[in-house]
Amino acid sequence: MTILILEWSNPLNKSCAIHFSCVSQLFIFCSVMLHLSQDVEALRGELCRKDEECREQERRLAALEQQVQERTGVIVQLQQQLEEAAQRRQELQLLRDGEETLSRQAALPLQVKYVTKTVEVESAQSKQALIEAQAHNQALQEQLSVQRQLLRELEQQLHESQRSSSQLRQQILVYEGEMERAQGQLEAEMQSLEEEKNRVIEEAFIRAESEMKAVHENLAGVRMNLLTLQPALRTLTCDYNCLKRQVQDFPYMLEKAITEAKQEICQVIGEVSSANQELLRKYKREMNLRKKCHNELVRLKGNIRVLCRVRPVCAGETDAADTKNKVTFDPDDDAVLYLSNKGKLMTFELDKVFPTQATQEEVFQEVQSLVTSCIDGFNVCIFAYGQTGSGKTYTMEGVPEDPGINQRALRLLFSAVSEKKPDWDYKITVSMVEIYNETLRNLLGDNPNEKLDIKMCPDGSGQLYVPGLTEFTVESVEDINKVFDLGHMNRATACTNLNEHSSRSHALLIVTVAGFNSSTGHRTSGKLNLVDLAGSERITKSGAEGSRLREAQCINKSLSALGDVINALRSKHSHVPFRNSRLTYLLQDSLSGDSKTLMMVQVSPLESNVSESVCSLKFAQRVRSVEIGPSSSSRRQAESSSTSSSPTHDGVELDSPPVTPVPLPISRASSASSALSSTSKTPTTRRRSHSQLSTDRQVDRSSPLVGDGGQVGGVLCGWSLGMNCSAWHGAPSVTSSTPIHLTQRL
Ligand code: ADP
Ligand code: MG
Repeated sequence: MTILILEWSNPLNKSCAIHFSCVSQLFIFCSVMLHLSQDVEALRGELCRKDEECREQERRLAALEQQVQERTGVIVQLQQQLEEAAQRRQELQLLRDGEETLSRQAALPLQVKYVTKTVEVESAQSKQALIEAQAHNQALQEQLSVQRQLLRELEQQLHESQRSSSQLRQQILVYEGEMERAQGQLEAEMQSLEEEKNRVIEEAFIRAESEMKAVHENLAGVRMNLLTLQPALRTLTCDYNCLKRQVQDFPYMLEKAITEAKQEICQVIGEVSSANQELLRKYKREMNLRKKCHNELVRLKGNIRVLCRVRPVCAGETDAADTKNKVTFDPDDDAVLYLSNKGKLMTFELDKVFPTQATQEEVFQEVQSLVTSCIDGFNVCIFAYGQTGSGKTYTMEGVPEDPGINQRALRLLFSAVSEKKPDWDYKITVSMVEIYNETLRNLLGDNPNEKLDIKMCPDGSGQLYVPGLTEFTVESVEDINKVFDLGHMNRATACTNLNEHSSRSHALLIVTVAGFNSSTGHRTSGKLNLVDLAGSERITKSGAEGSRLREAQCINKSLSALGDVINALRSKHSHVPFRNSRLTYLLQDSLSGDSKTLMMVQVSPLESNVSESVCSLKFAQRVRSVEIGPSSSSRRQAESSSTSSSPTHDGVELDSPPVTPVPLPISRASSASSALSSTSKTPTTRRRSHSQLSTDRQVDRSSPLVGDGGQVGGVLCGWSLGMNCSAWHGAPSVTSSTPIHLTQRL
């Protein structure tokens, strides 16, 4: 038996302990009773078995008695037969006596009285008497023969009777023997059965007696236990009644406790909800503060950031052995890049320079804050600018095993919006557009050749929209890959040579992030425009004709317009010429207001690309150098009015008629380009000269790029140059058109 030892710590538990001991005693008593009842049951079973055996013996006795009775009946029958046989014997004896009498009589000489009468023979009377006597004689004779026959039959019967009587006697003797034997057996059997019965009864009686004795003893023990258990039972009953009362009171107590708890909960809920309100208010205030800080930070950093990435020398370009020396980096300052051009070392300072070994991840880390600001409702534009082959597509799209900004940005958006759940619910949609020859193509639509238009929203909000532009909601990387594949396929089907075509068109991935906060009812909508611009390289006069010329004009126009827009925005001009190209018109709402722009200028390290690299870097520096703020803006406007101080002097120089240059401070770029002085490389010097950017005029003038009287310049410098294509392609038909000068627009 298992003994449970429990520690009872409070009064209720103590009473439970008493209950427990009583219950255990009761349990012992019950187990003893159970044991006894089992014994009694076993004895009863034994008794039943014995009874059954007795009944069986009685049945056998009855069967034997029946056999005896049957045999007695047979004996009675046989006695009757015997009696009948004796009767027959008497009859036979009588018959025999009769026969003997007959045979004696027959042995006696016939006493026939022959009466001789003389009669007249011829007497009719005598004749009649004779005939009658003869007939009488005849009848007597016949009677005699019948009697004889009867006698013989009786004799035969007698013989048979004798035979059967002897047989019957024998049978009777046999039966009698059998009967005696059976009776002997029966008696012996009955004797043994009687003995067995007596023995069994005696045994059963003895066993029952001993068992009864044990039962009595047990019963006495149980009685004793009962006597001891009774007080415990009384205590138990008392406790039970007490508990019962408690249980009866429990619902009231529970109800009371629940009511109190409810009141407390209501109070706490009220407190929590007021705290929540307070928190929400604080959260909103913090959000606004954060947004303000962010804006301030962005304002301090500049809404337009310009980064540069130099691609590595690819396999197959190794014959250009001196490429390594063309582009060098400052180990102490990651915002500076040196370019060796015709023996001169030019210095360019940007927001950040990525060297050739920079990974896709490193590049993305620099832009990811812009990407996530989309979630807060900001509009963002990221442009990849540079000549064909400088790595624009690699930076934006990347390769499957190492994706670029496009895919990483969407992945980041997915993870960022999932972190904001469940308060915020976001929907991310993407569109892909190509701008080729100033026409807009829907790259995710059913018909990629269909031209799209940009329209003003009819709701009067001043927002633009593109009717028919396909948008896909994306939720996973698989969705993105499907969308990209579709866009690439459509772009490829719309042209004969994709590489060629892609370098002559702008590819835009437009990501819209719309959020809704269910607890505050707050909504946000941000747009991320990821733009792989067309190649910015200049085309030689001889190379530009026909469709190629048209492409070049369009690219020049759109890149010029982009430059103009950026310039106007940074200078906070009242008029921003968004409508001058499809690209700027489409991106109007993502370039204006508190939206953010990042320009990734791609540079090739090859010597053969140096002149294009110079143009790209100048472009980059000019974009970055445009100062922000009303004072600078007004100053710039004042300068613009003199048509000389904007970063468009290259164009001015290139275009005809030339504009008289205004002397400006010599930029660090120019001083660096003039000589590889160690002082010019120090970061402090560079930082100081940074505010004096847009003054490459003297370098440019001395540079062969722009020193040919403005006949070159091309798309690269288009935004700042405000040039006309005729300036570089030399086609007479275009030359006649009026040159657009950025300085004039400004
Ligand atoms: P673009 O789009 O400006 O014409 P691409 O992106 O097509 O130039 O790049 C031209 C080649 O240079 C491609 O083969 C590309 O894989 C390679 N490339 C560009 N940038 C890098 C880089 N950072 N690392 C490795 N390969 C690069
Ligand atoms: Mg490309």
